[in-house]
Amino acid sequence: MHLILMGAPGSGKGSYAAVLKEHYRVPHISTGEIFRDAIEKKTPMGLIAKTYIDKGNLVPDDITNEIVKERLKQKDCENGFLLDGYPRTIAQAESLTKILDELGITLDAAVNLEVDDDLIVRRIVNRRSCPKCGKGYNLITYPPKKEGICDVCNTPLFTRKDDNEETVTSRLDVYNKQTRPLVDYYDKLGKLVSIDSNGTIEDTVKDIIKTLEA
Ligand code: AMP
Repeated sequence: MHLILMGAPGSGKGSYAAVLKEHYRVPHISTGEIFRDAIEKKTPMGLIAKTYIDKGNLVPDDITNEIVKERLKQKDCENGFLLDGYPRTIAQAESLTKILDELGITLDAAVNLEVDDDLIVRRIVNRRSCPKCGKGYNLITYPPKKEGICDVCNTPLFTRKDDNEETVTSRLDVYNKQTRPLVDYYDKLGKLVSIDSNGTIEDTVKDIIKTLEA
């Protein structure tokens, strides 16, 4: 399965990807995660990416496209992949189409997760994750059993630096201007699958799988 997961910040891409990667046994490729990891390791790319991410802006296309191009060439992507948070601009979508052509890969679907704006902000400011195992939580809808501690590996949870109300506003603005046009791009390619993502993770994942396998 070769899949793209698209949607506004807080639409649940990471949560659904965690389930879908097991279901389809494909690598989960999150450009946001790749950038956060590079920032943590203070690599030259990470230092550049940080200047954009901290302001809620997109990392430039040339850097992002190159990272994805190299990642998709790796062996574990031969039988499929789950792209989460990429592409985010028309230029990235065009680059991806070119890369997939070069690699002889046919995209199965671009899943677009639709969420109401007020729910997005609530989801993001209440979002927490585990720095060790990557498990995600929501303080209201999906809290950890022990406050501030990961259920799986007992590690203290953290809040992403860009998950604050000011940055969310600019991320939503960037999403509407630069990423929303991709819905049309993939619709024209006949690859668009739209999913209502206002409900629970469990119900939405079921809906995604049912729709993809219909
Ligand atoms: P995410 O974890 O997908 O919400 O991404 C966090 C941040 O990383 C975004 O707000 C962007 O600043 C940056 N980022 C992630 N993916 C991309 C991308 N495809 N293009 C440009 N910037 C990205």
